[in-house]
Amino acid sequence: MTEEDKKFMQRAIDLAKEGMNANAGGPFGAVVVKNGVIVGEGYNKVTSTNDPTAHAEVTAIRNACKALGTFQLDDCIIYTSCEPCPMCLGAIYWARPKMVYFGCNREDAADIGFDDQFIYDELERELDDRKIKIVRLMRKEALSAFETWAEKGDRTEY
Ligand SMILES: [Zn+2]
Repeated sequence: MTEEDKKFMQRAIDLAKEGMNANAGGPFGAVVVKNGVIVGEGYNKVTSTNDPTAHAEVTAIRNACKALGTFQLDDCIIYTSCEPCPMCLGAIYWARPKMVYFGCNREDAADIGFDDQFIYDELERELDDRKIKIVRLMRKEALSAFETWAEKGDRTEY
């Protein structure tokens, strides 16, 4: 960890406070850095935008990808004020940065009412045992889109 890492983490923490003070959402901030430069930042905007996916990391990833004109964060580092929740962790894996630093951890978040342990628990359960009913339907018809994709000559792989 370098002085530069501390600077970017401090920015993520400042964004967490900024978003909270603006009543944008919960106290979470994140920045995406490439080659020592911030290419995207964000804070939680769930309650102000009625968007349950508007977590700080997702917001920062969207802004960074837009700024870079790409769907992958190659060679990027994400600094987030709190350990990513399962949704953000998924988004991070899809965005493929090279590294993530986090400040608070999930237990710290649970202490102030942001407990995402239930999602980790759900992932461990069989589909039939999950709290939100999840049922398979029309596989054959759905597969036709996959078959078309497999044959599509001009597809952009990711
Ligand atoms: Zn999240």
